[in-house]
Amino acid sequence: MSCNFLALALPSIQELSPYVPGKPVDELARELGLNAADIVKLASNENPLGPSPKVVEAISQALPELTRYPDGSGFALKQKLAEHYAVDPAQITLGNGSNDILELVARAWLAPGRNAIFSEHAFAVYPIATLASGAECRQIPAKNYGHDLEAMAAAIDSNTRVIFIANPNNPTGTWFSQAALNAFLSAVPDDVLVVLDEAYIEYAADSDLPDGMAYLSRYANLLVSRTFSKAYGLAALRVGYAVSSKQVAEVLNRVRQPFNVNSLALVAACAALDDKEYLERSRLSNSQGMQQLEEGFKQLGLSWLPSRGNFIAVDFKRDAAPINRALLEQGVIVRPVAGYAMPTFLRVSIGTQAENQRFLDALTHVLKQA
Ligand SMILES: *Cc1c(COP(=O)(O)O)cnc(C)c1O
Repeated sequence: MSCNFLALALPSIQELSPYVPGKPVDELARELGLNAADIVKLASNENPLGPSPKVVEAISQALPELTRYPDGSGFALKQKLAEHYAVDPAQITLGNGSNDILELVARAWLAPGRNAIFSEHAFAVYPIATLASGAECRQIPAKNYGHDLEAMAAAIDSNTRVIFIANPNNPTGTWFSQAALNAFLSAVPDDVLVVLDEAYIEYAADSDLPDGMAYLSRYANLLVSRTFSKAYGLAALRVGYAVSSKQVAEVLNRVRQPFNVNSLALVAACAALDDKEYLERSRLSNSQGMQQLEEGFKQLGLSWLPSRGNFIAVDFKRDAAPINRALLEQGVIVRPVAGYAMPTFLRVSIGTQAENQRFLDALTHVLKQA
């Protein structure tokens, strides 16, 4: 007789819903018998510009070393990041994507009997990492789709070890101000680790969003996580990092895989940090694309959540699933967010001008038929 291994898993893992990624282009091409080149994917908040040529060059130079293990300490990248942020390299933890950082935090500080706090409509990896560790999820109702930081601080109890906050948040694009972060950090007890997820912060430069790095010297319980997947355009390589106190970094170092960041990702991230022109181009393309989509939505009479990321959540005020299906039939992949308790919305990543136009044309067609 075969055993029920689901029933034998940690109780919290029995409740866990796996992450649902954006639909791959090749999968839709197979399903519809379409040419992959005719499909537009605006579903995973990827950088539409393609990688920096300097990154491609750095990777090709590193290829002969593929038989070697990577530098498990990530020395060169940590040095570069430390200079970039004027911190000690010992404050830096590298991750296989910043997703890895979130999981390392959960593994180090969460367990059955403990809890993690995060917001409704927040990034799906927070509940996954929490439940995988056997801990309880305290999901706090959002305020106008954004984090209700006051309610989140008020939900802390003696079993709370971690609070995950994202600025800006995915999939809502909502953000909080410097004043709100100040008030929040002073309200959180110093034995609760605050994970400030800044996966999209590069898109919010010159705005009213706080720079998490500026708070590290005042709050030893703060960890700032960032990634090369979005504005730096390296989602395929999986590389992200945390900056924290040295002690927090030292704990994370105990639980990470010895070679958690591969060597191509390490050289690519170093080259990406140096390519300031690429980052500027990404930001400019994003703000122009955001404007293009907002104007398109306005013309279609649709409302949306103002966003500081490289994506925008548009509200159809009715079940968005049929609209999503009709867009797929037009060869346009966006992201349904019913799993984030936003069933009337679709999240659209900002693409190139041509991709955005292709999406708006398909949407116009779909809404006319409906
Ligand atoms: C995309 C994203 C990440 C991490 O992505 P990685 O590719 O693992 O670095 C983290 N947090 C949020 C909110 C994201 O949207």
